[in-house]
Amino acid sequence: MSSPASILIVGAGQAAAVAVAALRGHGYSGRISLVGDEAHPPYERPPLSKDLLVAESSDTEPTIGVKPAGFYEENQVDLKLGLSVTQLDTTGKVATLSDGRTVGFDKCLLATGGLARTLPDFPEAAPNVFYLRTLDDARRLRAAMQTGKHVVIVGAGFLGLEIASTALSKGLKASVIEYAPRALARVVPPEFSGWLEAQAAQSGATLHLGQATREVVAPSAPGATWQLTLNNGAVLSADLVVVAVGLTANTSLARNAGLAIDTHNGGIVVDTQCRTSHGDIFAAGDCTSQVRDASGAGMRLESWQNANEQARIAAAAMLGETAEPAAYPWFWTDQFGHNIQMLGLPQAGLHYVTRGDTSGGASPAKFIMVGLHDNIPMHAIAVNAGGDLRALRPVFEAGLAIDPSQFTDTSVTVRAFAKQVLAQAAPVSPA
Ligand SMILES: Cc1cc2nc3c(=O)[nH]c(=O)nc-3n(C[C@H](O)[C@H](O)[C@H](O)COP(=O)(O)OP(=O)(O)OC[C@H]3O[C@@H](n4cnc5c(N)ncnc54)[C@H](O)[C@@H]3O)c2cc1C
Repeated sequence: MSSPASILIVGAGQAAAVAVAALRGHGYSGRISLVGDEAHPPYERPPLSKDLLVAESSDTEPTIGVKPAGFYEENQVDLKLGLSVTQLDTTGKVATLSDGRTVGFDKCLLATGGLARTLPDFPEAAPNVFYLRTLDDARRLRAAMQTGKHVVIVGAGFLGLEIASTALSKGLKASVIEYAPRALARVVPPEFSGWLEAQAAQSGATLHLGQATREVVAPSAPGATWQLTLNNGAVLSADLVVVAVGLTANTSLARNAGLAIDTHNGGIVVDTQCRTSHGDIFAAGDCTSQVRDASGAGMRLESWQNANEQARIAAAAMLGETAEPAAYPWFWTDQFGHNIQMLGLPQAGLHYVTRGDTSGGASPAKFIMVGLHDNIPMHAIAVNAGGDLRALRPVFEAGLAIDPSQFTDTSVTVRAFAKQVLAQAAPVSPA
């Protein structure tokens, strides 16, 4: 292990906290400075659209710290909160903070996350308009939901649908406007979109698919509603508007410091070891665009697992060690009473087969859809079937072809099926 005298981590979010734990876990005893522009120590964002939004008040909020209270002190981390890094001098290896102080470093990890994409019709400062990225955003939205009756959500991606689901559970009416003709159009096949749209509708959400706002009239007085006219002429009157139309990588610091930025997706370019274009600067999490193969194409993954994975890898790399990246991305969401998990990545031309019961009936639906390329599983979506997805993971990782009719045969458990596929592929040992 090489041991830089000091490591600076910029951004106190998911990746940052995991990187600190990994550095100390590797036995690194040098100085760690962690600078975050929010007032809170690193916290988990997934609950912001789920349990934390459901909670009645701050008193009943779930604990969402990435690490327990006391962790940063115990691990001798110089934690500076409520301050941003405004400039990175990559030659002198000095960061300037928003209060004018400077922090020197030998290695630096950028974990600056993402920024919610905004829409000009709904300025962030407008009354009862919400973008959900931070704990403070979630608390503001929750407070507004206490009195609001109808929330209109712009965007039927994972976040928009989670917010709709939570709003319904709190007794609000929820309408979702989506420009694409189906929900989650970029990440799931049409048959899954159809299933989820039906779940949303059954739960009471109204989806306006293939629609955009033609006219937006802001509330004329306190207590008045937003009036949104859609392309098809429908008019929605909303107490609250939540815009959930995606994320842009937060790269201004990296860009100004002259680091390579992916011109296609806007992320900080990193290799499989989370190294940026500067030898002593690394990046992890939502802010990155990771190049994983010889094609040179960068990939942005905005997920909890990716932030954790890249943090672990970057920590090792900063200490001169190599950590293996996970073979397949994993993601989860909870909405409309269902736990949905995904393994792998969607791509054009996959043939999806479904195992299990999509209808639900008396008990909740439980099924897995697997996207095959030449019968090799590339992408899986599991509904209330996380255990089955785990059982299938080794088959994914081994890149083995499966027989779709055997996979969909529910008289055999997924575990037994996976075991059989792996056994058939194992080399036969000589007698
Ligand atoms: C509401 C919500 C729900 C989610 N639900 C899920 C889910 O169900 N499943 C899932 O897999 N993923 C989910 N995610 C995504 C997941 O939480 C993110 O992928 C993860 O938090 C990314 O971690 P990160 O460390 O890269 O960035 P973040 O956790 O966003 O942390 C970045 C931090 O850096 C700070 N920062 C930026 N620039 C500077 C600077 N110059 N100086 C100082 N500080 C700076 C930011 O303010 C922020 O605090 C959700 C995200 C949100 C917002």
